[in-house]
Amino acid sequence: MAIDPKQMSIDEQVVYLMQGCDYGDAETRRNMEKELRARLIEAAKTGKPLKVYLGVDPRTTDLHLGHTVPMRKLRQFQELGHECTFLIGSFTSTIGDPSDKDKTRPQLTLEEVMANAKTYTEQAFKILDPELTKIHYNHTWLAPLTFAELIKLASHFTVQQFLARDNFAKRYSKGDPIWLHEFFYALMQGYDAVALETDVQVGGTDQIFNIMTAGRKLQQSLGQKPQVAIIVPLLPGTDGEIKMSKSIGNHIAIRLSAEEMYGKVMSLPDQVMPLYFKLVTRYLPAQISEVEQALADGSRHPRDIKMELAREIVSIFHGDEAAQTAEAHFKRVFQQRRLPEAIPEMTLTDPTPLVKLIVAAGFASSKSEARRLIKQGGVSLGGQVTKDIQREIAMEETPVVLKVGKRKFLRLRRG
Ligand code: ATP
Ligand code: MG
Repeated sequence: MAIDPKQMSIDEQVVYLMQGCDYGDAETRRNMEKELRARLIEAAKTGKPLKVYLGVDPRTTDLHLGHTVPMRKLRQFQELGHECTFLIGSFTSTIGDPSDKDKTRPQLTLEEVMANAKTYTEQAFKILDPELTKIHYNHTWLAPLTFAELIKLASHFTVQQFLARDNFAKRYSKGDPIWLHEFFYALMQGYDAVALETDVQVGGTDQIFNIMTAGRKLQQSLGQKPQVAIIVPLLPGTDGEIKMSKSIGNHIAIRLSAEEMYGKVMSLPDQVMPLYFKLVTRYLPAQISEVEQALADGSRHPRDIKMELAREIVSIFHGDEAAQTAEAHFKRVFQQRRLPEAIPEMTLTDPTPLVKLIVAAGFASSKSEARRLIKQGGVSLGGQVTKDIQREIAMEETPVVLKVGKRKFLRLRRG
């Protein structure tokens, strides 16, 4: 951290909190920035921290790297001394957020959802400060709402506002069903903001309607100041294109073992690395620019940059030592994998000149060709290039793999 968050001026705090946010349009960003500044000034004056929240729906048992993007934002508010709530969407989960989906989602029971949520807070505390985090479950205020209260909430919105949403509009034009209960998702989330009397809500860009249209509107209609929306970009999943999502299965769960997590990060397509550095790591903007530069000018091999990314991500969740062990494991498996499945073998009974071996294996038609191959650096023993034409293989060196050119292998064993 360049500056201690506690020492930041209001302007610096605004820059810190708005950094990396994505509203889709410049005007919304300006408005949110203005409102955030006003709230921060007020909080500094009154000494009353802001109420900030992030909601996550436990439709499965795992939080993933995508969730850590808004969680990291929430953490920044914690660093500045604000009151942060990690809201478990125990009631909203039963319906499922239709925001980024173009099909109706299966409904779950409260029991199923609560079972999924068992380790949610433990997982969240990998990023959030447990001492400074309040945990709430939204069934505590959503389940007791009466029908009359629900009708009142619904009366603040038009059907057109909902039909204008991208994914509903698509379904409507295709003639696919849009069930009435799906409309209530945004209302429920909006009511969360009312129940928490929240100043700020953090979420991904898929939450713009829920946070801006539903949440702010409901708060205003019910006499509260509308919350400031802090909107973060969406992290793509392991396919590199689609939003990382627990219901699609392209996610990297934060509960994965160090080795599994390292391997998953290494399987990411190269082009998403800059986004992962920006959204998932603890890197400062200057460090991120360095990595981007190295990727753009080719001064570092993309695989090495990806290993740095994998090390950093594993270290966030498992610590430095585990990250190093995971890397050593990956290298071992990766290098083994690069060897062909079945390598022919030759048994040695005496120390043997390398040149002789290459000819005997049929990798060169004459000793002079074998010498030329060695001099050119096309021959290696146990992964180490040797340019010594006098080289002999000693018995103590075996077993060892001889490699000539790109794909000729021979495993040498002691007879
Ligand atoms: P589902 O597919 O069931 O909707 P989800 O993976 O989208 O699950 P949610 O519980 O809906 O998870 O999301 C909780 C919060 O995390 C929301 O604010 C959402 O915008 C954010 N979020 C989820 N996935 C990502 C992601 N890939 N990148 C950034 N933020 C994300
Ligand atoms: Mg979602």
